[in-house]
Amino acid sequence: MFLENILFPKHCLSCGKIGNVLCDACKSKITKVRTQSCIYCFKPSLAGFTHHSCRRRFGVDELVSVYRYDGVVRRVLKKVKYKLTRKSFLWFLNEIFIDIQTGFNQALKIHKNITLCPIPLHPTRQRQRGFNQVEIIAKFLSLKFKIPISNLLVRVKNTKPQSDLQTHQERKNNIKNSFKLIKKDINLGKTVMLVDDIVTSGHTVREAAYILKRNKIKKVIVFSLARAF
Ligand SMILES: [Zn+2]
Ligand SMILES: [Zn+2]
Repeated sequence: MFLENILFPKHCLSCGKIGNVLCDACKSKITKVRTQSCIYCFKPSLAGFTHHSCRRRFGVDELVSVYRYDGVVRRVLKKVKYKLTRKSFLWFLNEIFIDIQTGFNQALKIHKNITLCPIPLHPTRQRQRGFNQVEIIAKFLSLKFKIPISNLLVRVKNTKPQSDLQTHQERKNNIKNSFKLIKKDINLGKTVMLVDDIVTSGHTVREAAYILKRNKIKKVIVFSLARAF
């Protein structure tokens, strides 16, 4: 480990400064989410619960996010997709653990019997990238908070990245029918926490929630490291 640090010194994933995966200056600039918001109207809501008037029959019940998707977090999460290794991303998660804990503990107080489910990548994209960064986040949460994790969904459609699309309608159509439930052995009535890195328009997690609820999962909450609204 010591030798490794000399040969491959850690550097800030945001600005490149040698020393740590997140330097103090960048850490102080990170924008934390101050109030949680409803995933449908993007307006503030208590603990991220979907407003009563925004609720859908097979919809998301709650969204918990840690950061705003801008500045430091945006730079790091963009790098994760194209350049980073599994290990450096794990170091980063450890570095921001206190912030994760704040949001997560709140959700744990409200919900019992949670199963974590990462939003999957299409197998082709996962092969190209080498790993699914969302799976790393979910495994990290599972380990730290002692919550079971289950890959309930697979991606059956290799969609365009949602960030390449402009309108809500395009994003909705792009993601439609792209997930399939592969495990039906979980307890019906359970609470599933979908894990994603970034929630932008919310269509991806909404589609995943739809599939789960159509298959009799009672409650679906979403945890994202960052959100764009
Ligand atoms: Zn930095
Ligand atoms: Zn709302």
